[in-house]
Amino acid sequence: MNPAIVLLGQGGMPTARQLKELYPQACIWGQAARVQGADRTYEHFGDTLRALYRADTPIIALCAAGIVIRTLAPELAAKVAEPAVLAVAEDGSAVVPLLGGLAGANRLAREIGVCLAVAPAITTSGELRFGQCLLDPPAGYVLADIEQGKRFVSDLLAGEAVRVEGQAPWLAQTPLALAEDAPRVIHITPAVRPAARDELLIHPRSVVAVVRQADAGLAEHIANQLAGQGLAVASLAGLLAPFDTMGSVQLHAAAQALGVPVRFSDLPVSAAAVELQVHDRPVAVDTLGQRRGRLAVIGLGPGDRALMAPAVSAELARAHDVLGYETYVRMAGPFREDQVLHCTDNREELQRARHAFELAAQGRDVVVVSSGDPGVFAMASAVLEALDGAADPAWHRVDLQVLPGISASLATAAWAGAPLGHDFCLISLSDNLKPWEVIEQRLHLAGQADMAMAFYNPISRARPWQLGRALDILRQHRAPDTPVVLGRDVARPGQRLRVVTLGELLPEMVDMRTMVIVGSSTTRLIERPGQAPWVYTPRWYPAAPQR
Ligand code: SAH
Repeated sequence: MNPAIVLLGQGGMPTARQLKELYPQACIWGQAARVQGADRTYEHFGDTLRALYRADTPIIALCAAGIVIRTLAPELAAKVAEPAVLAVAEDGSAVVPLLGGLAGANRLAREIGVCLAVAPAITTSGELRFGQCLLDPPAGYVLADIEQGKRFVSDLLAGEAVRVEGQAPWLAQTPLALAEDAPRVIHITPAVRPAARDELLIHPRSVVAVVRQADAGLAEHIANQLAGQGLAVASLAGLLAPFDTMGSVQLHAAAQALGVPVRFSDLPVSAAAVELQVHDRPVAVDTLGQRRGRLAVIGLGPGDRALMAPAVSAELARAHDVLGYETYVRMAGPFREDQVLHCTDNREELQRARHAFELAAQGRDVVVVSSGDPGVFAMASAVLEALDGAADPAWHRVDLQVLPGISASLATAAWAGAPLGHDFCLISLSDNLKPWEVIEQRLHLAGQADMAMAFYNPISRARPWQLGRALDILRQHRAPDTPVVLGRDVARPGQRLRVVTLGELLPEMVDMRTMVIVGSSTTRLIERPGQAPWVYTPRWYPAAPQR
């Protein structure tokens, strides 16, 4: 996983930038009030550090080791996750791996030490003696059993000689006491071996399962095949499957159960549902065939980052490509240099959706941004319209996700109190994509139904008269003292909330950045001195008169 470089003050920024050059995928986190130029900002250091730790994110904190230790102390007992945690002096003069020695903390410390030209403060005994931790083999290799590994390393530290069976190029530089007849053995093999006190077993990820047919029991089937050939499950580097299985739920469930990636390519025809390819060294799965692309349609919420779902932030962080109306793309940032932004005009929705599918079909992770919720007068429908009936099968195989956001009506309603606390409807007053007569009819019906209403797209330069006409219709159904909430730029800089009555409401009070909420006959006010009154619609409704 990509490390988080966490800054407490601006002083650490030059060091943070050096580390970012070393790890271009890393995210620099800076405290909102104190740090400028960070990739992400945070309000509370402790909460942020603990959340990163819980999410198993490697942490490089540019601050005193003591601060990090005290902050993470409450998390340590749980041991749900143990990512690498390092403290780096703000001026780059020291690097201290604190936690996660087995999750690569020492490796990171050594790499950072080289980058900053300082000696890493490595204290792990096996590591000091053998130059690197035998229990943290490089990428492409996995240790079979960590507890057995710890016993083995303490034996070696006591001076036992050892021999290596198999290919372990990274051990060549290590000052192990090698002896050809040593009873202690480091085995590098994809094969299963019974546990033995005098053995350290390391599996190269050198087996690829070629899957031609994905059924419900696929993971089990692959595990059985491995067992049948005496191979360890940990030796599995990944699955390779034909393109037409890319959308298979069973295939992805199996890959997840086995903890390996899936790649896709044109495979020669064969009768076998699963075939194992055993290579003589670890397989770089990323170089096989193509990955499955992802298209996520996300909702940013009304504006304020705090109102954005964490799943949406995570999606933005993993995106290769970000598409959307320029204002919203800017709102979704900051982005890393390796992320490609495709800003378009607000009206080119269908074209944008098609472009998104084309990119995702090439195996890229694509995010399409909407403000508020993507399913409310926004991009999710446009994306599904583009998919509906699309001829290219590759579009249908993309990992398509819609991630919700807080819609403007809900953000505005919350600020005002609870005007949508009873039945309500959401109506767009834009007649760009629907006839104005339909809008009029819906306003009449919603008026008769005595529901509260939230109006999106209430007015624009191209649609100057529609709101006035809509208000005329509403006034046929609602009393002049019906409360109306106007929220402009809610959760954005310069946000404004007004409460007026239907009788007072003029189209001039409203623009395209305004959310208009008109109450029902039961909507009422609670005065608040010095600010707009609370507006709420009670949960109950008077009984209808008996006929
Ligand atoms: N998908 C968006 C709505 C897009 S339609 C959502 O779920 O919020 C655009 C309309 O939404 C605007 O014309 C305005 O009426 C309303 N709107 C969007 N963001 C707003 C905000 N922050 N404050 C007030 N109104 C907003």
